[in-house]
Amino acid sequence: MSINDLFGTNVFSDAVMKERLPKETYKSLKRTIEMGEPLEKTTAEVIANAMKDWAIEKGATHYTHWFQPMTGKTAEKHDSFISLTPDGRATMEFSGKELIQGEPDASSFPNGGLRATFEARGYTAWDPTSPAFLKEDSAGVTLCIPTAFYSYTGEALDKKTPLLRSMESISKQAMRVLKLFGETSSKKVITTVGAEQEYFLVDKKYYQARKDLIFTGRTLFGAMPPKGQELDDHYFGSIKERIANFMRELDVELWKLGVSAKTKHNEVAPAQFEVAPIFSTTNIATDHNQLMMEIIQKVAMRHDLVCLLHEKPFAGVNGSGKHNNWSLATDDGINLLNPGKTPEENARFLLFLSIIIAAVDEYAPLLRLSAANPGNDHRLGANEAPPAIISVFLGDKLTSIINQIEAGDLNIEKQVELLEVGVSTLPKLPKDSTDRNRTSPFAFTGNRFEFRMCPSSASIAGPNIVLNTIVSEYLRRVADELEKADDFNESLKKVMVRLIKDHKKIIFDGDGYSDDWIKEAARRGLPNLSSTVEAYTYFDKPEAVELFERHGVFTKGEIVSRKEIVFEEYAKIINIEGLTMSQMVKKQIIPACINYMTDVAESISKIKGVCPSVDVSVQEELVNKISKLLFDVRVKVADLNKAIEEAKGISNIESMAFAYREKVFPAMAELRKPCDELEKIVSEEAWPYPTYDELLFRV
Ligand code: ADP
Ligand code: MG
Repeated sequence: MSINDLFGTNVFSDAVMKERLPKETYKSLKRTIEMGEPLEKTTAEVIANAMKDWAIEKGATHYTHWFQPMTGKTAEKHDSFISLTPDGRATMEFSGKELIQGEPDASSFPNGGLRATFEARGYTAWDPTSPAFLKEDSAGVTLCIPTAFYSYTGEALDKKTPLLRSMESISKQAMRVLKLFGETSSKKVITTVGAEQEYFLVDKKYYQARKDLIFTGRTLFGAMPPKGQELDDHYFGSIKERIANFMRELDVELWKLGVSAKTKHNEVAPAQFEVAPIFSTTNIATDHNQLMMEIIQKVAMRHDLVCLLHEKPFAGVNGSGKHNNWSLATDDGINLLNPGKTPEENARFLLFLSIIIAAVDEYAPLLRLSAANPGNDHRLGANEAPPAIISVFLGDKLTSIINQIEAGDLNIEKQVELLEVGVSTLPKLPKDSTDRNRTSPFAFTGNRFEFRMCPSSASIAGPNIVLNTIVSEYLRRVADELEKADDFNESLKKVMVRLIKDHKKIIFDGDGYSDDWIKEAARRGLPNLSSTVEAYTYFDKPEAVELFERHGVFTKGEIVSRKEIVFEEYAKIINIEGLTMSQMVKKQIIPACINYMTDVAESISKIKGVCPSVDVSVQEELVNKISKLLFDVRVKVADLNKAIEEAKGISNIESMAFAYREKVFPAMAELRKPCDELEKIVSEEAWPYPTYDELLFRV
């Protein structure tokens, strides 16, 4: 089957709607989608009916409101289309009301105290800007309706609602700025996103033999095999048959859902891969990334593989992230981060650029926290991912232009020349080089910014909510100022010079992995937030609350509840990791080592019994070494258990999360050391679970 026949076959797409909806209904829905106009009840009725007929023709029996609770995962509650007639027959029904609103049992989703104080119910509401789709699995075919999830009082209980709000805000403010440039044809500004997704694949039989992978998604122990990623031979290497089959099927499944999976290749680490879609509007890109994560896991299972989305499944090789490529575009297709061809276009581009630089500088802690999760604490600042310090990469040419603007040398004519030479030659850097660009957390890549800190397992809603809102804020400030200006050009110049002067400390084109940068960043006063818990303390600072409230993205209550959820989640995750470690040590590692030691000891006495003069110092040394290490293990597992008990006893959720970070987390690292040493000296047959060798090199 060709990709044309496959692509989007399971999507209630624009084309399907055009074909199946009456003209007037289609037009009215388009006004809702494009201009945010409210949807008439009668229109919803007609759409629901068309959607149902389409879904049933394709085998669907159920529908679900598909939503994204604050866990960052997706949730659904399936209802069947079946409805009974008075004479006892069954018909398939789906009303406009059922399309527009649902009321899932929300009590099991985290709400950070939001619902308890108001009302226990949660509602889902159709997001008509993200198309409905069909999910096929062993349970049958289900019509999925992308929805927002909120409480009785309208407070957002999900990730989609604030994302949609932030998109509205940035559109409003960007339109104000565009108007100042005489832009009249565009009706709104959208943010575009393409998220590159990294992941690992391991063999299911090895996965199932490791409690740590099952309970925590990452290995808590594991000595490095003789070969790691140092040869770089996995990167862009030829894809093995089994993986190739998996990828072929993955593409097909994603294409059916209208997810434009475009690239596939091996990543830096062994057993690591990447898939990237063609960019789309932010909320669709976010929905698609959620679907992508789900489908990768599902398809992997069919090939007896398990997909690990964790940020750091293995120590010693690179972890996984998500690159959030982000730009602004008008509804009529102008990419506002594309350097233009005329002086006006260039001035506009440079203004947007300066605005983004300023926003990222002032609100760096918020951007950092948007990429914080427990898994990412193993990556950021660990010389593989970007450092935990936010900075902006522009490249030589653009930096030199920015410097000239700052110096007051803003000759627009000259800018055009420079830009033509400059931006077109901005290096499109090949992935495999150890280029400095890769070390930057926020890099300009020719016509967009690439935010490279995002965690591989998390929703990209958070990072985009923050990006949209902080840029919105600076667009607002600039619009406020320029709308009042008598001489637009003069004021524009002044604004740009000031933005750059005040914020150029965030621009850094050097090596983000170097120790010098850490010192330099401290000198510049840039924040270096090394952990999730630390980053999250910035969420409810007065300036953050003011920002989010001003743009209608989060209320104070929504912020406080989200902060609480993150701290609670952090504590829970580290608690599970700590307990899993402790259990593996007691039930697997110690018994295996004792058995092995006994075998060796028995062999010593057997040999001695037969031939007393034989040298058994090798065996004796081994027994001694194991015994010493086991002693160390015993001490450190006790330390870990004590740290867990103490953390558990803390009642304030924030202090508890900090205790898990500062006491439990390091205790785990300490315990891991002697265990990995033991793994190196105990025989392969005696070791109680599969090793890195099997996990990384036998897929
Ligand atoms: P690289 O590995 O060099 O970063 P990829 O091709 O793997 O490049 O990924 C680039 C991503 O950026 C793709 O998802 C692509 O669709 C996306 N992208 C390209 N242009 C834009 C844009 N204007 N806005 C948002 N995303 C974009
Ligand atoms: Mg990239």
